[in-house]
Amino acid sequence: MDTGTWDYSVFWKETMSQIKNELSEQEFFMWFKNLEYHHSNESEIVLKVPSSFYRDQIKQRYLPLIESKLFELSGNRINVDFAVESNVNNNINPKRDRGRDNLKSNLKKVQKKPHYQLKNEYRFENFVIGENNSFAANASIAIAKNPGRAYNPCLIYGGVGLGKTHLIQAIGNSAYSDFDNLKIVYITAETFTTEFIQAIRNQITHKFKNKYRSADILLIDDIHFLQNKDETQEELFHTFNALYDANKQMVFTCDRPVSELKRLSNRLRSRFERGLNVDLQPPNYETRYAILNQKIEEKKVSIPNEVIELICKNITTNVRDLESALTKLIAYADLVNKEITLDIARQQLKDIFSSPKQSNISIELIQRAVAEYFGLSHHDLRGRKRTKAIAFPRQVAMYLAREITEYSTTEVGLEFGGRDHTTVMHACEKVENRMRTDPTLEPTINHLIRTLKDMSTKI
Ligand code: ADP
Ligand code: MG
Repeated sequence: MDTGTWDYSVFWKETMSQIKNELSEQEFFMWFKNLEYHHSNESEIVLKVPSSFYRDQIKQRYLPLIESKLFELSGNRINVDFAVESNVNNNINPKRDRGRDNLKSNLKKVQKKPHYQLKNEYRFENFVIGENNSFAANASIAIAKNPGRAYNPCLIYGGVGLGKTHLIQAIGNSAYSDFDNLKIVYITAETFTTEFIQAIRNQITHKFKNKYRSADILLIDDIHFLQNKDETQEELFHTFNALYDANKQMVFTCDRPVSELKRLSNRLRSRFERGLNVDLQPPNYETRYAILNQKIEEKKVSIPNEVIELICKNITTNVRDLESALTKLIAYADLVNKEITLDIARQQLKDIFSSPKQSNISIELIQRAVAEYFGLSHHDLRGRKRTKAIAFPRQVAMYLAREITEYSTTEVGLEFGGRDHTTVMHACEKVENRMRTDPTLEPTINHLIRTLKDMSTKI
Protein backbone atom coordinates (compact mmCIF):
# COMPACT_ATOMS: atom_id res chain seq x y z
CA MET A 1 0.00 0.00 0.00
CA ASP A 2 1.21 3.51 -0.72
CA THR A 3 1.78 4.94 2.71
CA GLY A 4 2.02 8.41 1.25
CA THR A 5 -1.75 8.52 0.86
CA TRP A 6 -2.45 8.14 4.53
CA ASP A 7 -3.54 11.35 6.08
CA TYR A 8 -4.67 11.42 9.65
CA SER A 9 -4.53 15.19 9.94
CA VAL A 10 -8.31 15.47 10.29
CA PHE A 11 -8.29 13.12 13.24
CA TRP A 12 -5.45 15.06 14.72
CA LYS A 13 -7.39 18.33 14.44
CA GLU A 14 -10.41 16.81 16.10
CA THR A 15 -8.25 15.28 18.82
CA MET A 16 -6.79 18.67 19.56
CA SER A 17 -10.13 20.37 19.74
CA GLN A 18 -11.46 17.72 22.13
CA ILE A 19 -8.42 17.94 24.34
CA LYS A 20 -8.72 21.69 24.34
CA ASN A 21 -12.18 21.38 25.79
CA GLU A 22 -11.03 19.03 28.49
CA LEU A 23 -8.03 20.93 29.79
CA SER A 24 -7.77 24.34 31.35
CA GLU A 25 -6.74 27.08 28.98
CA GLN A 26 -3.47 27.41 30.82
CA GLU A 27 -2.58 23.76 30.58
CA PHE A 28 -3.56 23.54 26.95
CA PHE A 29 -1.54 26.60 26.13
CA MET A 30 1.47 25.29 27.96
CA TRP A 31 1.61 21.87 26.32
CA PHE A 32 -0.32 21.83 23.07
CA LYS A 33 0.31 25.17 21.52
CA ASN A 34 3.68 24.00 20.26
CA LEU A 35 2.57 20.63 19.06
CA GLU A 36 2.04 20.40 15.31
CA TYR A 37 0.91 17.72 12.93
CA HIS A 38 3.83 16.71 10.74
CA HIS A 39 2.84 13.69 8.65
CA SER A 40 1.23 10.30 8.98
CA ASN A 41 1.39 6.85 7.50
CA GLU A 42 -0.79 3.80 7.88
CA SER A 43 0.07 3.13 11.46
CA GLU A 44 1.32 6.35 12.93
CA ILE A 45 1.05 10.07 13.19
CA VAL A 46 4.22 12.07 13.55
CA LEU A 47 3.97 15.29 15.48
CA LYS A 48 6.42 18.13 15.42
CA VAL A 49 7.67 19.38 18.78
CA PRO A 50 10.05 22.25 19.47
CA SER A 51 12.39 20.33 21.76
CA SER A 52 13.07 16.95 23.23
CA PHE A 53 12.05 18.38 26.57
CA TYR A 54 8.56 18.97 25.18
CA ARG A 55 8.53 15.55 23.61
CA ASP A 56 9.38 13.82 26.87
CA GLN A 57 6.89 15.83 28.86
CA ILE A 58 4.11 15.27 26.35
CA LYS A 59 4.85 11.58 26.24
CA GLN A 60 4.82 11.29 29.95
CA ARG A 61 1.73 13.39 30.55
CA TYR A 62 -0.52 13.12 27.55
CA LEU A 63 0.38 10.24 25.29
CA PRO A 64 -2.30 7.83 26.58
CA LEU A 65 -4.90 10.58 26.29
CA ILE A 66 -3.87 11.44 22.73
CA GLU A 67 -3.76 7.82 21.63
CA SER A 68 -7.12 6.97 23.11
CA LYS A 69 -8.73 9.99 21.46
CA LEU A 70 -7.26 8.97 18.11
CA PHE A 71 -8.59 5.48 18.60
CA GLU A 72 -12.07 6.72 19.46
CA LEU A 73 -12.15 8.95 16.41
CA SER A 74 -10.56 6.74 13.81
CA GLY A 75 -11.29 3.24 15.04
CA ASN A 76 -7.61 2.43 14.46
CA ARG A 77 -4.77 2.02 16.88
CA ILE A 78 -2.61 4.86 15.64
CA ASN A 79 0.82 5.23 17.17
CA VAL A 80 2.09 8.66 17.89
CA ASP A 81 5.67 9.57 17.22
CA PHE A 82 7.53 12.83 17.52
CA ALA A 83 9.90 14.76 15.33
CA VAL A 84 11.96 17.25 17.23
CA GLU A 85 12.05 20.39 15.22
CA SER A 86 15.55 21.78 15.64
CA ASN A 87 17.73 23.13 18.45
CA VAL A 88 17.10 20.04 20.46
CA ASN A 89 18.58 19.20 23.77
CA ASN A 90 17.55 16.01 25.37
CA ASN A 91 17.56 16.93 28.99
CA ILE A 92 17.29 13.50 30.41
CA ASN A 93 19.70 11.62 28.19
CA PRO A 94 22.17 14.05 26.77
CA LYS A 95 23.20 13.07 23.28
CA ARG A 96 26.58 13.29 21.64
CA ASP A 97 25.64 15.98 19.18
CA ARG A 98 24.46 18.40 21.80
CA GLY A 99 27.23 20.86 20.96
CA ARG A 100 25.96 21.27 17.45
CA ASP A 101 22.35 21.56 18.61
CA ASN A 102 23.32 24.24 21.05
CA LEU A 103 25.03 26.11 18.30
CA LYS A 104 21.90 26.04 16.22
CA SER A 105 19.65 27.08 19.05
CA ASN A 106 21.97 29.89 19.86
CA LEU A 107 22.15 31.21 16.33
CA LYS A 108 19.10 33.34 16.81
CA LYS A 109 20.39 34.46 20.16
CA VAL A 110 23.82 35.56 19.06
CA GLN A 111 22.25 38.12 16.81
CA LYS A 112 21.13 39.87 19.94
CA LYS A 113 23.66 41.04 22.48
CA PRO A 114 23.36 39.03 25.67
CA HIS A 115 21.21 40.67 28.31
CA TYR A 116 23.52 42.78 30.44
CA GLN A 117 22.30 41.39 33.76
CA LEU A 118 21.76 37.76 32.83
CA LYS A 119 24.26 34.95 32.60
CA ASN A 120 24.05 33.51 29.15
CA GLU A 121 24.52 29.93 30.37
CA TYR A 122 21.38 29.94 32.50
CA ARG A 123 18.92 28.54 29.98
CA PHE A 124 16.02 26.11 29.93
CA GLU A 125 17.89 24.05 27.36
CA ASN A 126 20.51 23.04 29.89
CA PHE A 127 18.28 22.81 32.93
CA VAL A 128 17.72 19.15 33.64
CA ILE A 129 14.18 18.37 34.69
CA GLY A 130 13.46 15.73 37.28
CA GLU A 131 10.62 15.14 39.67
CA ASN A 132 12.28 17.44 42.20
CA ASN A 133 11.95 20.51 40.02
CA SER A 134 9.50 19.77 37.21
CA PHE A 135 6.68 21.92 38.51
CA ALA A 136 8.95 24.92 39.02
CA ALA A 137 10.66 24.39 35.66
CA ASN A 138 7.41 24.01 33.74
CA ALA A 139 5.88 27.03 35.39
CA SER A 140 9.01 29.00 34.50
CA ILE A 141 8.80 27.92 30.87
CA ALA A 142 5.15 28.93 30.73
CA ILE A 143 5.98 32.32 32.24
CA ALA A 144 8.76 32.96 29.75
CA LYS A 145 6.41 32.19 26.87
CA ASN A 146 3.56 34.20 28.20
CA PRO A 147 4.86 36.88 30.55
CA GLY A 148 2.32 38.71 32.66
CA ARG A 149 -0.36 36.19 31.93
CA ALA A 150 0.79 32.70 32.87
CA TYR A 151 1.49 32.81 36.58
CA ASN A 152 1.85 36.20 38.11
CA PRO A 153 3.60 36.73 40.42
CA CYS A 154 5.58 33.55 40.75
CA LEU A 155 7.81 32.64 43.65
CA ILE A 156 10.34 29.83 43.41
CA TYR A 157 11.73 28.64 46.71
CA GLY A 158 14.25 26.05 47.83
CA GLY A 159 17.61 25.62 49.55
CA VAL A 160 21.04 26.53 48.28
CA GLY A 161 22.33 25.16 45.01
CA LEU A 162 19.03 23.76 43.80
CA GLY A 163 18.69 25.93 40.71
CA LYS A 164 16.73 29.02 41.76
CA THR A 165 19.07 31.47 40.10
CA HIS A 166 19.40 29.26 37.04
CA LEU A 167 15.61 29.13 36.59
CA ILE A 168 14.81 32.77 37.24
CA GLN A 169 17.56 33.83 34.83
CA ALA A 170 16.43 31.27 32.26
CA ILE A 171 13.03 32.97 32.31
CA GLY A 172 14.79 36.25 31.58
CA ASN A 173 17.01 34.81 28.85
CA SER A 174 14.19 33.00 27.14
CA ALA A 175 11.84 35.99 27.12
CA TYR A 176 14.73 38.22 26.07
CA SER A 177 15.39 36.17 22.97
CA ASP A 178 11.72 35.61 22.13
CA PHE A 179 10.35 39.12 22.57
CA ASP A 180 11.91 42.24 21.18
CA ASN A 181 10.33 45.01 23.10
CA LEU A 182 10.15 43.80 26.64
CA LYS A 183 12.16 45.47 29.34
CA ILE A 184 13.56 42.68 31.46
CA VAL A 185 15.13 43.58 34.77
CA TYR A 186 16.99 41.03 36.89
CA ILE A 187 18.39 41.92 40.29
CA THR A 188 19.25 40.22 43.53
CA ALA A 189 17.37 41.48 46.56
CA GLU A 190 20.71 42.45 48.01
CA THR A 191 21.66 44.71 45.11
CA PHE A 192 18.13 46.07 45.02
CA THR A 193 18.57 47.08 48.64
CA THR A 194 21.99 48.65 48.08
CA GLU A 195 20.78 50.56 45.05
CA PHE A 196 17.80 51.84 46.94
CA ILE A 197 19.91 53.07 49.85
CA GLN A 198 22.27 54.81 47.44
CA ALA A 199 19.36 56.36 45.60
CA ILE A 200 18.08 57.84 48.85
CA ARG A 201 21.53 59.11 49.73
CA ASN A 202 22.00 60.72 46.33
CA GLN A 203 18.41 61.96 46.25
CA ILE A 204 17.61 60.15 43.04
CA THR A 205 14.83 57.86 44.27
CA HIS A 206 12.69 58.95 41.31
CA LYS A 207 15.29 57.37 39.01
CA PHE A 208 15.28 54.21 41.06
CA LYS A 209 11.49 54.00 41.06
CA ASN A 210 11.38 54.62 37.36
CA LYS A 211 13.88 51.88 36.60
CA TYR A 212 11.89 49.21 38.39
CA ARG A 213 8.38 50.41 37.70
CA SER A 214 9.00 50.53 33.98
CA ALA A 215 9.96 46.84 33.80
CA ASP A 216 7.83 44.42 31.81
CA ILE A 217 9.44 41.50 33.57
CA LEU A 218 10.94 42.05 36.99
CA LEU A 219 13.04 39.19 38.35
CA ILE A 220 14.22 39.50 41.95
CA ASP A 221 16.51 36.77 43.28
CA ASP A 222 16.87 35.80 46.96
CA ILE A 223 14.15 37.86 48.58
CA HIS A 224 14.97 36.36 51.99
CA PHE A 225 17.61 39.06 52.03
CA LEU A 226 14.85 41.63 52.52
CA GLN A 227 14.12 40.42 56.05
CA ASN A 228 14.61 43.28 58.44
CA LYS A 229 15.06 45.86 55.66
CA ASP A 230 11.93 47.82 56.35
CA GLU A 231 12.38 50.71 53.97
CA THR A 232 13.37 48.52 51.06
CA GLN A 233 10.36 46.32 51.77
CA GLU A 234 8.14 49.38 51.66
CA GLU A 235 9.62 50.44 48.34
CA LEU A 236 9.24 46.98 46.86
CA PHE A 237 5.66 46.84 48.06
CA HIS A 238 4.81 49.92 46.01
CA THR A 239 6.80 48.68 43.02
CA PHE A 240 4.93 45.40 43.25
CA ASN A 241 1.55 47.10 43.24
CA ALA A 242 2.42 49.31 40.31
CA LEU A 243 3.64 46.38 38.21
CA TYR A 244 0.84 44.08 39.30
CA ASP A 245 -1.82 46.59 38.33
CA ALA A 246 -0.18 46.97 34.94
CA ASN A 247 -0.10 43.16 34.42
CA LYS A 248 3.67 43.08 34.33
CA GLN A 249 5.37 39.81 35.15
CA MET A 250 7.17 39.38 38.45
CA VAL A 251 9.21 36.41 39.57
CA PHE A 252 10.95 36.05 42.91
CA THR A 253 13.14 33.43 44.50
CA CYS A 254 13.58 32.68 48.16
CA ASP A 255 15.48 30.13 50.22
CA ARG A 256 12.35 29.02 52.10
CA PRO A 257 8.56 29.30 51.91
CA VAL A 258 7.45 32.89 52.36
CA SER A 259 5.43 31.92 55.42
CA GLU A 260 8.72 31.16 57.16
CA LEU A 261 10.34 34.51 56.49
CA LYS A 262 10.73 36.62 59.57
CA ARG A 263 10.66 40.36 59.93
CA LEU A 264 8.83 40.79 56.66
CA SER A 265 5.85 43.12 56.55
CA ASN A 266 2.58 41.25 56.32
CA ARG A 267 1.42 43.20 53.33
CA LEU A 268 4.55 42.35 51.35
CA ARG A 269 4.32 38.73 52.47
CA SER A 270 0.77 38.55 51.17
CA ARG A 271 1.91 39.97 47.83
CA PHE A 272 4.58 37.28 47.49
CA GLU A 273 2.05 34.63 48.36
CA ARG A 274 -0.32 35.83 45.68
CA GLY A 275 0.06 33.90 42.44
CA LEU A 276 2.08 30.75 42.24
CA ASN A 277 4.54 29.49 44.87
CA VAL A 278 6.60 26.50 43.73
CA ASP A 279 9.41 24.66 45.42
CA LEU A 280 12.66 23.03 44.33
CA GLN A 281 13.71 19.88 46.15
CA PRO A 282 17.11 18.16 46.07
CA PRO A 283 17.45 15.95 42.99
CA ASN A 284 17.14 12.18 43.27
CA TYR A 285 19.78 9.76 42.00
CA GLU A 286 18.53 9.63 38.40
CA THR A 287 18.32 13.38 38.13
CA ARG A 288 21.75 13.83 39.67
CA TYR A 289 23.04 11.41 37.09
CA ALA A 290 21.40 13.29 34.24
CA ILE A 291 22.68 16.62 35.53
CA LEU A 292 26.25 15.37 35.85
CA ASN A 293 26.11 13.93 32.38
CA GLN A 294 24.94 17.21 31.04
CA LYS A 295 27.71 19.14 32.81
CA ILE A 296 30.27 16.67 31.49
CA GLU A 297 29.03 17.19 27.96
CA GLU A 298 29.20 20.93 28.39
CA LYS A 299 32.76 20.71 29.59
CA LYS A 300 33.62 18.33 26.77
CA VAL A 301 35.53 15.92 28.98
CA SER A 302 35.34 12.18 29.16
CA ILE A 303 34.64 10.57 32.48
CA PRO A 304 33.93 6.87 32.98
CA ASN A 305 30.42 5.92 33.96
CA GLU A 306 31.52 4.31 37.19
CA VAL A 307 33.01 7.63 38.30
CA ILE A 308 29.79 9.45 37.53
CA GLU A 309 27.91 6.84 39.54
CA LEU A 310 30.33 7.20 42.43
CA ILE A 311 29.76 10.95 42.57
CA CYS A 312 25.98 10.63 42.29
CA LYS A 313 25.84 8.09 45.07
CA ASN A 314 27.93 10.14 47.42
CA ILE A 315 26.72 13.65 46.81
CA THR A 316 23.08 14.03 47.60
CA THR A 317 22.81 17.57 48.83
CA ASN A 318 22.42 19.83 45.83
CA VAL A 319 23.55 20.57 42.31
CA ARG A 320 26.18 23.06 43.31
CA ASP A 321 27.99 20.36 45.33
CA LEU A 322 27.75 17.97 42.39
CA GLU A 323 29.30 20.56 40.14
CA SER A 324 32.12 21.37 42.51
CA ALA A 325 33.05 17.70 42.83
CA LEU A 326 33.21 17.47 39.07
CA THR A 327 35.25 20.65 38.75
CA LYS A 328 37.71 19.45 41.36
CA LEU A 329 38.18 16.16 39.58
CA ILE A 330 38.68 17.73 36.18
CA ALA A 331 41.14 20.27 37.56
CA TYR A 332 43.18 17.50 39.15
CA ALA A 333 43.20 15.34 36.04
CA ASP A 334 44.28 18.34 33.99
CA LEU A 335 47.04 19.22 36.36
CA VAL A 336 48.62 15.81 36.52
CA ASN A 337 47.66 15.04 32.94
CA LYS A 338 46.02 11.73 33.76
CA GLU A 339 42.79 10.01 32.79
CA ILE A 340 40.14 10.13 35.47
CA THR A 341 39.78 6.68 37.00
CA LEU A 342 37.67 5.34 39.82
CA ASP A 343 40.69 5.29 42.12
CA ILE A 344 41.64 8.86 41.34
CA ALA A 345 38.04 9.95 41.90
CA ARG A 346 37.83 8.16 45.25
CA GLN A 347 41.11 9.63 46.36
CA GLN A 348 40.42 13.19 45.21
CA LEU A 349 36.87 13.41 46.42
CA LYS A 350 37.15 11.61 49.72
CA ASP A 351 36.93 14.82 51.74
CA ILE A 352 33.86 15.97 49.91
CA PHE A 353 32.27 12.55 50.26
CA SER A 354 32.89 12.29 53.94
CA SER A 355 31.44 15.69 54.67
CA PRO A 356 27.71 14.84 54.57
CA LYS A 357 27.78 12.98 57.91
CA GLN A 358 29.48 16.22 58.48
CA SER A 359 31.93 15.78 61.28
CA ASN A 360 32.37 19.52 61.36
CA ILE A 361 28.73 20.12 62.21
CA SER A 362 28.71 20.72 65.92
CA ILE A 363 25.66 20.61 68.14
CA GLU A 364 26.18 24.26 68.82
CA LEU A 365 26.03 25.02 65.11
CA ILE A 366 22.74 23.13 64.92
CA GLN A 367 21.39 25.04 67.89
CA ARG A 368 22.37 28.33 66.30
CA ALA A 369 20.82 27.49 62.95
CA VAL A 370 17.60 26.19 64.47
CA ALA A 371 17.36 29.13 66.88
CA GLU A 372 17.89 31.57 64.01
CA TYR A 373 15.27 29.82 61.97
CA PHE A 374 12.65 29.99 64.71
CA GLY A 375 13.60 33.49 65.83
CA LEU A 376 15.07 32.37 69.18
CA SER A 377 18.50 32.59 70.75
CA HIS A 378 20.62 29.47 70.97
CA HIS A 379 20.69 29.88 74.76
CA ASP A 380 16.93 29.28 74.71
CA LEU A 381 17.54 25.86 73.21
CA ARG A 382 20.24 24.97 75.70
CA GLY A 383 18.23 26.27 78.65
CA ARG A 384 15.56 24.74 80.89
CA LYS A 385 12.51 26.72 79.79
CA ARG A 386 9.72 24.53 78.49
CA THR A 387 7.31 26.94 76.88
CA LYS A 388 5.78 25.71 73.65
CA ALA A 389 7.61 28.32 71.57
CA ILE A 390 10.91 26.88 72.74
CA ALA A 391 10.10 23.21 73.31
CA PHE A 392 9.38 22.33 69.70
CA PRO A 393 12.41 24.07 68.14
CA ARG A 394 14.49 22.35 70.81
CA GLN A 395 13.09 18.98 69.76
CA VAL A 396 13.87 19.79 66.14
CA ALA A 397 17.45 20.66 67.08
CA MET A 398 17.82 17.39 69.01
CA TYR A 399 16.41 15.45 66.10
CA LEU A 400 18.88 17.12 63.71
CA ALA A 401 21.76 16.43 66.06
CA ARG A 402 20.91 12.73 65.95
CA GLU A 403 20.32 12.73 62.19
CA ILE A 404 23.40 14.49 60.93
CA THR A 405 26.07 14.02 63.57
CA GLU A 406 27.56 10.97 65.22
CA TYR A 407 26.80 12.12 68.77
CA SER A 408 24.99 9.67 71.02
CA THR A 409 21.68 10.52 72.68
CA THR A 410 23.53 10.99 75.98
CA GLU A 411 25.98 13.44 74.41
CA VAL A 412 23.18 15.30 72.69
CA GLY A 413 21.24 15.50 75.97
CA LEU A 414 24.24 17.01 77.74
CA GLU A 415 24.46 19.77 75.16
CA PHE A 416 20.83 20.66 75.72
CA GLY A 417 21.04 21.78 79.33
CA GLY A 418 22.06 18.39 80.70
CA ARG A 419 18.92 16.55 79.69
CA ASP A 420 18.58 12.82 79.96
CA HIS A 421 19.11 10.60 76.90
CA THR A 422 15.46 9.48 77.05
CA THR A 423 14.39 13.09 76.53
CA VAL A 424 16.42 13.13 73.34
CA MET A 425 14.86 9.86 72.16
CA HIS A 426 11.42 11.21 72.95
CA ALA A 427 12.18 14.41 71.01
CA CYS A 428 13.24 12.42 67.93
CA GLU A 429 10.08 10.33 68.06
CA LYS A 430 7.97 13.42 68.42
CA VAL A 431 9.53 15.09 65.39
CA GLU A 432 9.22 11.91 63.32
CA ASN A 433 5.55 11.53 64.26
CA ARG A 434 4.82 15.12 63.52
CA MET A 435 6.48 14.81 60.12
CA ARG A 436 3.87 12.22 59.25
CA THR A 437 0.97 14.53 59.99
CA ASP A 438 2.37 17.96 59.21
CA PRO A 439 3.41 18.25 55.55
CA THR A 440 5.32 21.47 56.16
CA LEU A 441 7.72 19.96 58.64
CA GLU A 442 9.78 17.79 56.34
CA PRO A 443 10.64 20.67 53.98
CA THR A 444 11.61 22.70 57.05
CA ILE A 445 13.90 19.94 58.29
CA ASN A 446 15.41 19.50 54.84
CA HIS A 447 15.96 23.21 54.60
CA LEU A 448 17.73 23.25 57.95
CA ILE A 449 19.95 20.33 56.95
CA ARG A 450 20.94 22.08 53.77
CA THR A 451 21.63 25.32 55.61
CA LEU A 452 23.78 23.46 58.12
CA LYS A 453 25.75 21.67 55.46
CA ASP A 454 26.24 24.95 53.71
CA MET A 455 27.35 26.67 56.92
CA SER A 456 29.72 23.86 57.80
CA THR A 457 31.49 23.95 54.44
CA LYS A 458 32.15 27.65 54.96
CA ILE A 459 33.74 27.17 58.36
P1 ADP B 1 20.48 28.48 43.82
O1 ADP B 1 20.26 29.83 43.21
O2 ADP B 1 19.21 27.75 44.14
O3 ADP B 1 21.40 28.51 45.00
P2 ADP B 1 21.82 27.94 41.34
O4 ADP B 1 20.75 28.30 40.37
O5 ADP B 1 22.92 28.90 41.53
O6 ADP B 1 21.19 27.55 42.74
O7 ADP B 1 22.41 26.49 40.92
C1 ADP B 1 23.68 26.04 41.32
C2 ADP B 1 24.37 25.42 40.13
O8 ADP B 1 23.72 24.22 39.79
C3 ADP B 1 24.34 26.28 38.88
O9 ADP B 1 25.56 26.16 38.21
C4 ADP B 1 23.21 25.71 38.06
O10 ADP B 1 23.44 25.87 36.68
C5 ADP B 1 23.26 24.26 38.44
N1 ADP B 1 21.94 23.60 38.40
C6 ADP B 1 21.00 23.62 39.37
N2 ADP B 1 19.93 22.88 39.03
C7 ADP B 1 20.20 22.39 37.80
C8 ADP B 1 19.50 21.54 36.88
N3 ADP B 1 18.29 21.05 37.19
N4 ADP B 1 20.08 21.25 35.70
C9 ADP B 1 21.30 21.71 35.40
N5 ADP B 1 22.03 22.50 36.21
C10 ADP B 1 21.49 22.85 37.40
MG1 MG C 1 20.92 31.72 43.76
